[in-house]
Amino acid sequence: MSLLKHTWDKILPNNCTICGKTPDADGRIPYPVPEDFHICFKCLSSLVPQPSDRRFFLCLSEPYKGDPYPSLGLYMPFPYKGFFETAVPKMKFRSCPQIAEFAGMLLGTFMHKDGVNASLIVPVPLSEKRLKERGYNQAQLIAYEASGICNIPFSNDVLVRTRDTQRQTELETGMVRSANVEGAFKVSSAYDVTGLKVIVVDDVATTGFTLHEAASELYKAGAAEVFCCAVCGNRAVLNAESF
Ligand SMILES: [Zn+2]
Repeated sequence: MSLLKHTWDKILPNNCTICGKTPDADGRIPYPVPEDFHICFKCLSSLVPQPSDRRFFLCLSEPYKGDPYPSLGLYMPFPYKGFFETAVPKMKFRSCPQIAEFAGMLLGTFMHKDGVNASLIVPVPLSEKRLKERGYNQAQLIAYEASGICNIPFSNDVLVRTRDTQRQTELETGMVRSANVEGAFKVSSAYDVTGLKVIVVDDVATTGFTLHEAASELYKAGAAEVFCCAVCGNRAVLNAESF
């Protein structure tokens, strides 16, 4: 840290990245954090992980429509409430890439603790249009940070978008949401995933359709095993077997 920045921080501490208040919990966070991320006690106390026996789920689409891989696993250490209810919209719509980096560090820390491993981590790709609007793909930042903590190779362009889709949350019914992502991804011909165990990362698990579509393409391309990781979400079906 430069002397100037150090002095500046003493005079005017950076505010909590999540709620904008004074970062009184800085230095006491029990997780790794990006350099430009700050947090207050109130926000930190709302960051409550799922109990350790409630982090492995089945990635069933909702409403269920006969998924091609009904046993597809989903690892998700946080519920979509408390901290993430405020942090996710800010990460998506207010240009805060450091929240995505922090979410990736959290995901990686919990994956490591729970023994979630693979030979490759890939993010769900973002459409060109949304990448331009937002300036970053939050799933990419999350996957990258998690890969560093878990020491799993990361690749950003194994999965590519074949076309633009609408935001899943903007669509009303399950059938429409499922059709929205059908055929939206493919595995780049520059990569050979044959025989690999691959983790697909998204920020939030909502309907499960996006993760299913991404996993299906990896299986079609020859991956031996695919499972999904999301930082948070609201899922009901627990998977009794960890992966
Ligand atoms: Zn705060």
